[in-house]
Amino acid sequence: TTFIGGSIAGLGDIYGQLQKAIGSSERVLEILGEAPEVSTADFQKVPMEGKVSFRGVRFSYPTRPEMEVLKSIDFEIPAGEKVALAGQSGAGKSTIIQLLLKFYPIDKGQILIDGKSIDTWNLKQLRSNIGIVPQEVLLFGGSIKENIAYAKPDASEEEIIEAAKKANAWQFISKFPEGMETKVGERGIKLSGGQRQRVAIARAILKDPAILILDEATSSLDAESEALVQEALDELMKNRTTIIIAHRLSTIRKVDRIYVLKEGEIVEEGTHEQLALQEDGFYANLVRLQFAE
Ligand code: ADP
Ligand code: MG
Repeated sequence: TTFIGGSIAGLGDIYGQLQKAIGSSERVLEILGEAPEVSTADFQKVPMEGKVSFRGVRFSYPTRPEMEVLKSIDFEIPAGEKVALAGQSGAGKSTIIQLLLKFYPIDKGQILIDGKSIDTWNLKQLRSNIGIVPQEVLLFGGSIKENIAYAKPDASEEEIIEAAKKANAWQFISKFPEGMETKVGERGIKLSGGQRQRVAIARAILKDPAILILDEATSSLDAESEALVQEALDELMKNRTTIIIAHRLSTIRKVDRIYVLKEGEIVEEGTHEQLALQEDGFYANLVRLQFAE
């Protein structure tokens, strides 16, 4: 396993550079889902409850100061609640997640975790308490074991197997002759989309964050994988604050609250039942358009 840099500040720089180079928030979230935690023996994770609050948050990307991407975002997610961010592409969903992860300073307002401004949270503490399952899971060339233990390199064999079992990944991993030592990536075996997802879920279970970000895959898996992934996600989401960038109606139906974003503003909020019933509601229209099937 290779770890980038020696300090979290260095890690931030790398993300910043990557982001400039790539210019897309989606891609950074994908990479982040893969991001190694710089692990030092003396690092002690401070427990978080997982309450997330945005208060009057305004934001423009530094490269486009004239365009306000978020225009006064207010919400409060009590610890353990599950919410979805819905809205068309470009509405600002991924930007909200990036701000929570402290990739950019905000222009106005406050972002708080457990009632404490994220400015006062140490970056490493903050990110060690936030897990991400990205849309498209990229595994690095190495064993399945290394890929799962990425966020916790000192995890024991038992812990890793336990995480794999909870993620519904153990059933396919244990069928490989080399089990968890099986190499994946370019020079190893190729895992299916659903299998890669479950490896990413096992990684997140092992990381054990208070806050979980799910960027749902847009492309659908086959029905069997879908069911196994969903079951694994349900296990992962237990007792964690979860923010889902939702693309699927099946997920959105189950969350405590949906925030519907339009051009950087929350235009509607409520449960699926409440929002879908509004005759001329923005969400009701989205549902008709996006989730037609
Ligand atoms: P969503 O996730 O809802 O599709 P994003 O948060 O990715 O929306 O994007 C919101 C707006 O911010 C879009 O207009 C997008 O073009 C712009 N944007 C996203 N990332 C950057 C960036 N790194 N620099 C400048 N503008 C960006
Ligand atoms: Mg996005």
